[in-house]
Amino acid sequence: FFREEFTAQSPAVRVRFGRNVRNSIADEIDALGARRALILTTPQQADMAEEFAALCGDRAAGRFTGAVMHTPVEVSEQATEQARSIGADVLVAVGGGSTTGLGKAIALRTGLPQIVVPTTYAGSEATPILGQTENGLKTTITDRRVQPEIILYDAELVATLPVAMTVTSAINAMAHAAEGLYARDRSPLTSLMAVEGLRAFRDALPRVIAAPGDLAARGETLYGAWLCGSVLGQVGMALHHKLCHTLGGSFDLPHAETHAVILPHAIAYNAQAVPELLAPVAEIFGDADPGRALHRFARESGAPLALRDLGLKETDLDRAAEIATRNPYWNPRPVERDALRRLLAAAWAGEAPD
Ligand code: NAD
Repeated sequence: FFREEFTAQSPAVRVRFGRNVRNSIADEIDALGARRALILTTPQQADMAEEFAALCGDRAAGRFTGAVMHTPVEVSEQATEQARSIGADVLVAVGGGSTTGLGKAIALRTGLPQIVVPTTYAGSEATPILGQTENGLKTTITDRRVQPEIILYDAELVATLPVAMTVTSAINAMAHAAEGLYARDRSPLTSLMAVEGLRAFRDALPRVIAAPGDLAARGETLYGAWLCGSVLGQVGMALHHKLCHTLGGSFDLPHAETHAVILPHAIAYNAQAVPELLAPVAEIFGDADPGRALHRFARESGAPLALRDLGLKETDLDRAAEIATRNPYWNPRPVERDALRRLLAAAWAGEAPD
């Protein structure tokens, strides 16, 4: 992974792994010098807010259990208002990317430090990136102020993630690593993290599917999520993320499932231009071709394989190819409309990439 020229920058983040590491939350709050925590969850995970309030004891100053998808600005402002009114001096976000996103949005507005306890593999906790929606428009910013200071990875908390979500969330994470391998601003460290993150999912995801409560396997998938999220936080993404953004934004397809369907096709597309950079993917997943290797792994994991199963109409394919090529962006292989239309047709039908 050596390059003659590169810039590497790692965030100053404290990361702890371990079963039951959530029981150390009060110590982590004390170490920050904080005394009044606002605990954040989605409505579906409100019981987690209660559990964390108990773990924080008299450091729990309040709970906000209204985190929702896409971080709408109105919700962030309401939660920020609560943080200010209770005099919170630290945020504790327990959940997936939506809850982490809310914590980041409050941190952006208040400068409060964040402790994140992830319960999915999305990886947002490891990035300085925040996506927000206002009037139906999603914008993304990268700002060091939104990078969480402390991450507690507790395998017990992710063990409740249903198997179907486990699989799509894992492939969503793997997409950050796979695209990181050819990023223009990659460093030897981000490539090492990407390969190790993919390896961790290859080894541990089948064990998690076979036994969702296997905490050793869950811990290893969380380790993969941390590595893949760290890659996303440090390098730029390309075709795969652009396509998923188009399909999610313009056709309202579900986020993680769309990632799962598109990844093998986007990687196969780019493998034609940078086969040597994607060779580790082929090697890890045991096929001569990295796109086919990922397609087989997705199929064997029971992931969705076809855009038509996610609600995309065949008549939408032309428009999807049009939108995805409208604004140029960097990709290792030129993004051509006809080639992209063929990619989308194969992904729509659920076929393996060429
Ligand atoms: P999510 O946070 O929206 O969670 C989906 C649902 O699953 C929620 O109802 C949640 O409460 C529930 N859930 C979460 N963990 C659970 C568990 N262990 N057991 C049972 N239920 C659980 O989903 P996500 O995929 O983690 O996050 C997606 C969002 O994160 C998207 O909006 C995406 O854009 C964003 N994201 C941002 C970044 C970044 O760097 N900014 C990175 C990745 C994802």
